[in-house]
Amino acid sequence: MTTRRGACPTLSAPMKTGDGLLARIAPAHGALTPEKLAGIAKAAGRYGNGILEVTARGKLQIRGLTAESAPLFASEINALDLGPVDGFAVETAPLAPPPPLAERINAHVVERGYAALLAPKVSVTVDVGSALHLDAIGADIKLIMADDGQWLIGVGGNGATAHWLGVGDERVAGDRALAILDLLAQTGGRARDFTQAQKNALRVGLEPALQHPARADSAPVGRFALKDGENALGIALPFGQVAAEALVTLCDAASDAEEIRLAPRSGLLLIGLDAPRQEALSRAAEALGFVTDGHDPRLSIATCAGAPACASARFDAKALAAEAAAAGLPDGPFRLHLSACEKGCAQPAGPVVNLIAVEGGCTLSSVGAKPSERLRTFLIERGETLRAALLRKTG
Ligand code: SF4
Repeated sequence: MTTRRGACPTLSAPMKTGDGLLARIAPAHGALTPEKLAGIAKAAGRYGNGILEVTARGKLQIRGLTAESAPLFASEINALDLGPVDGFAVETAPLAPPPPLAERINAHVVERGYAALLAPKVSVTVDVGSALHLDAIGADIKLIMADDGQWLIGVGGNGATAHWLGVGDERVAGDRALAILDLLAQTGGRARDFTQAQKNALRVGLEPALQHPARADSAPVGRFALKDGENALGIALPFGQVAAEALVTLCDAASDAEEIRLAPRSGLLLIGLDAPRQEALSRAAEALGFVTDGHDPRLSIATCAGAPACASARFDAKALAAEAAAAGLPDGPFRLHLSACEKGCAQPAGPVVNLIAVEGGCTLSSVGAKPSERLRTFLIERGETLRAALLRKTG
């Protein structure tokens, strides 16, 4: 079990949370077969509290394990032979095969033994661009391929906030990414803490970077063409969570899919099905409670785990999110972010209205968005009500 601040939960070292131990599984490129995903869900039902999550970064989480059940769960997952499911791995966009650049960076980390030297949350995204790009995902190193095949190299942020060092071809971008990793391994720090002098040194030899153009942040819901000629049906877990039984039922119904791929923004991509099967599975997934319509208001709400899942929570964020979606909110071109404490674990990128539970109340703020009076009133009233209800319950 891990209690180290800043550490990430893994299968072998789950993290203590408000509803027990939390394990995280991240198979290479998020790829699972329906049978293997069903196996994970069944084990989650047996050994956890039956709730699984796909995170905003596309990682699978299992909640409610105990000190006794976690090792049993881990050995059952290991028996599924999923390949490496934790440790450092470059994050890649889900609609394209992992590019060679990602493999090169992964190999460097293994060869140099950096897994033990890098700070726990150090991350690298290698994004070949597509409808489901990785702009919303923050990373220590961000590599984005442009249409002309050149790579934009950034550090310490997401697509909007990263510090862009410059542009280079694939070899140059790879060399620079390895140099940055060497630096991070030497210091044990994070790229966001680089000094100006360090950034200047990392810029030498690169073409100057233009600003990365903002791209729409698409939800992983609908039909998608994959870069290898395949196609995928995308569905999403409502507010990032699903019951184990529902996931097992979905996997059984999709047993003829070649792959079910985990995707950022709590998505599942069902790959290798023809149009009639996609249609049938979309209906089945909707009946199971998954999000299957790109206009579903649940896609516009980012919520943290909240109470009772997180011990720091001051309200039940998922319940508030469900109420907001049922009321047809949010009602503007922005996302609603519900955070049950100041930490803001689920903070999305882009225009946003934030409701944050703090000591003694809830605060409302917005960035690039103008919330309607109806939304403001709803959030303050319901946020306060749920906050007071939790206070009464916990004393
Ligand atoms: S934002 Fe706070 S309450 Fe919500 S999951 Fe993170 S730590 Fe817990």
